[in-house]
Amino acid sequence: MAKETFEFQAETKQLLNLMIHSIYTNHEIFLRELISNASDAIDKLHYESLTRKEILEGNEDYEIYLIPDKDSHTLTISDNGIGMTREEVIENIGTIAKSGTKAFLEQIQKAKEENADIDDKALIGQFGVGFYSAFMVAEKVTIQTRKAGTSQAVRWESAADGSYTIEDCEKESRGTTITITLGKEFYGSDSEEDYTSSWKLSDLVKKYSDYVRYPIKMAFEKEETPKDENGKEIEGAEKVKTTEIRTLNSMQPLWTKSKSDITKEQYNEFLKKQFHEWEEPWEVFHNKAEGTVEYTSLLYIPSKAPFNLYHTDYEPGVQLYSRHVFIMDKCKDLLPDYLRFVKGLVDSPDLSLNISRELLQQSRELKAIGKNLEKTIIKALEKKLKNDRDAYEKFWNEFGKSLKIGIYNSMYTGDDTVNKLKDLLLFMSSKENKNVSLKEYVERMPESQKKIYYATGADKATIEKLPQMELLKEKGLEVLYLLDPVDEFAIETIRTYADKPFQSISRGDLDLDDAESQEAKKETEDIAKSNDALIKDIKEALSDKVAEVKISSRLKSSAVCLVADAMGPSLSMEQTFSAMDNPMFKAKRILEINPKHELFSRLQLLHSNGKDDQDFKDYCDLLYSQALIIEGIMPENPVDFANKIAKLMSK
Ligand code: ADP
Repeated sequence: MAKETFEFQAETKQLLNLMIHSIYTNHEIFLRELISNASDAIDKLHYESLTRKEILEGNEDYEIYLIPDKDSHTLTISDNGIGMTREEVIENIGTIAKSGTKAFLEQIQKAKEENADIDDKALIGQFGVGFYSAFMVAEKVTIQTRKAGTSQAVRWESAADGSYTIEDCEKESRGTTITITLGKEFYGSDSEEDYTSSWKLSDLVKKYSDYVRYPIKMAFEKEETPKDENGKEIEGAEKVKTTEIRTLNSMQPLWTKSKSDITKEQYNEFLKKQFHEWEEPWEVFHNKAEGTVEYTSLLYIPSKAPFNLYHTDYEPGVQLYSRHVFIMDKCKDLLPDYLRFVKGLVDSPDLSLNISRELLQQSRELKAIGKNLEKTIIKALEKKLKNDRDAYEKFWNEFGKSLKIGIYNSMYTGDDTVNKLKDLLLFMSSKENKNVSLKEYVERMPESQKKIYYATGADKATIEKLPQMELLKEKGLEVLYLLDPVDEFAIETIRTYADKPFQSISRGDLDLDDAESQEAKKETEDIAKSNDALIKDIKEALSDKVAEVKISSRLKSSAVCLVADAMGPSLSMEQTFSAMDNPMFKAKRILEINPKHELFSRLQLLHSNGKDDQDFKDYCDLLYSQALIIEGIMPENPVDFANKIAKLMSK
């Protein structure tokens, strides 16, 4: 077919422009991207050849070649993988079909909309952008490719000027050869980034592509003095130039090397390449086990939680290998779900390649490995909490929620997750503006304190203003702040810590034991007795809205509060359920009234006119609505509430 010229698709143009014009400094990653494509192409060929041996064309030596040429200032990357047909070149190279690149552009778009000064180079660094990264260093890129098993090769070329050309060409060997004509900053001995330098290229391969499974080869020129038949250099003979082909990568999968031979950069690089995590990990676990099951694991806790970690579209799981052969991606039955943020892989000769995924996921070996790894991770977290609090808190802020959900879920599975995780929990508290663990809380509570107090609310400020907080604050009792809806569910699942039950400040009896509190309680009981009729009539006025009306001993300056019964869901749990469209779980509401508040005597007065007095009824209603608002709950009928207030204000 004759030479044809095509325009790049708009999105591709946009990406190319970014590549060329961004002053992104890490140009060198282009090599990693192209080598990785070459390696994928060989993988594809190998897979295909299992059923169609003829496509190997008699050559099973898989390899990738780097050919730098100082004279023409080009760098060629050549593979004998699957290659591409003309249609595939147009489809794969001319358009952005690939989701990764699309996502990359969308991300840039989004970031730009949110922040006009967005830095392109920072963004590019976060994504693998594949083939197009060649244009960071290229003036022109030429691809010659022949699909394995076909005879017609094609030549694609673009100078990144908005268009590319395609024409038929000759190519002896199958696979793809990409020739980059380097831009002038990227070659020559003056350049700091000379991609025609064999040494530079060999360093880059070691840095980024050492574990690629196929040999990455390059010719090195040597000058040698000729030798005689005994292998001795011939004296006085003129040196001759020879070339030697060397394999640049060790091809050994990173995880099979011993820990002491792996640098931090290599671990980080592997996480990037293999698991698309662009930030340095928070922690790396690399272990070899030789017990009842033999395995090597390389696991990472990333430093940032993905935005969709708790959405259904997030796929947790680690990769499985058997004797370095890949079995499956995202095996989610290895680790418990509360470790869904862990990335990495497990390689074990005890995992069978030949059983179905379903059976594999339930295999005894896998379970045993999973248990060990779970233990390792929990131990490491405990150690971090003890020895490096700042680092642990960073982890906690990203993934703490996952552990709390894990605890809550164990309510249904009945496993011992609570015992495994309860010491890892942190909560803000009323004591200092800091996180506290349950152990620390219990250790510093006064001996007379029988319960662990907690309050729920959207943020610290809201909780600190709760009427129920006042008394505890006055008594100097520490209160845990549960700021995430899941917190209370987790706490309710744990039930007790060090034999101390948890107690919400908005539920049931606070159980304060000091003499003063006992006295206040007694006093309250007396007031309740003498106001029996009043309390009964307030309850009647509020009919089905509250389960009970009580004289409160927990209020100081506020007139009322709403609490939930000790049994059943709390008010905040009820809110969470109703936000999840599950309004079945209702808290049993108790309206507590402060007998020392002026309003109480006002109620007494109005009540003396009889329980059907309209003002009395309105006051009851207003009290209840107030209590709801304090809890962050909208009164059922806000207009009615406002009207009653207005009426009162106009009196
Ligand atoms: P990605 O590799 O992430 O899919 P790229 O932009 O790097 O994205 O490549 C786009 C597509 O072009 C690849 O998915 C592949 O189909 C094809 N491709 C790229 N390089 C090669 C190659 N060396 N051999 C065969 N196909 C290739």
